[in-house]
Amino acid sequence: MVRPVPPVVDLLGVRKTYAQGDVVFEALSGVSLQIHQGEMVALMGPSGSGKTTLMQIIGLLDRPSSGTYHLAGRDVTTLTENERAEARNRELGFVFQAFHLLPRQTLLENVEVPMTYAGVPPRERRERALELLAEVGLADKAGNRPTQISGGQKQRVAIARALAGRPRLLLADEPTGNLDTRTSEEVMGLFARLHAQGTTVILVTHEADIGAYAERVVRVRDGLIERDERQRPHRPPPPPAAAAAETPSSEAAP
Ligand code: ADP
Ligand code: MG
Repeated sequence: MVRPVPPVVDLLGVRKTYAQGDVVFEALSGVSLQIHQGEMVALMGPSGSGKTTLMQIIGLLDRPSSGTYHLAGRDVTTLTENERAEARNRELGFVFQAFHLLPRQTLLENVEVPMTYAGVPPRERRERALELLAEVGLADKAGNRPTQISGGQKQRVAIARALAGRPRLLLADEPTGNLDTRTSEEVMGLFARLHAQGTTVILVTHEADIGAYAERVVRVRDGLIERDERQRPHRPPPPPAAAAAETPSSEAAP
């Protein structure tokens, strides 16, 4: 018997309140949401609807005021700060709107950072960082610094860094918020390719054409899930390198 795989994200009745002086503001008012391994989900909704709050709870950067969160079958609602930090490092990769690269380090060193924290030996770390930079199409820029590359390239480095710990889940809050349309497409193409290779992706966006890259759109409004729509399966044709990696059997076939 194959045991059913638990959802990667399983939120049940999650509420989040913020106290502002005497006033208590409810940013999330009872959110239940399951996201399964291999999905690519866009969280969409107007400004102030609770998207970032939801993402921070999913990302173990914040905790619910009430309700429960199971991450890959494990109840993470009651973890201590240290346990949450550990789970975050082991299970999650983050991509932010503002890239957050270290300006004085090379791209290679930037990608190495999480592996340094994780205690990966220097040589292995370097090899893996190079592989990851190749994966995002920037192997030839490994020795450059963030100031020498474009915004789209910076976000690709940030994605490589997010993948360094082989996370179960990739979280991106407005990853194209600082990018122009063409560059946004380049970055979303990369997310779509990673998704096609099996990575689970949750992204926050308020732009419909960015949301269209996801196969499922969860609409948030006033701290509640207003709609949860599976769009027609979105499978943009992967670029040749990825297509070759995905269909090893086609080489053997006559
Ligand atoms: P979105 O990302 O959809 O724009 P947020 O999750 O950032 O929305 O915010 C939802 C609501 O919660 C907003 O009204 C915001 O002002 C409020 N909020 C978010 N974080 C805090 C906080 N740390 N303290 C007080 N209110 C907050
Ligand atoms: Mg936000």
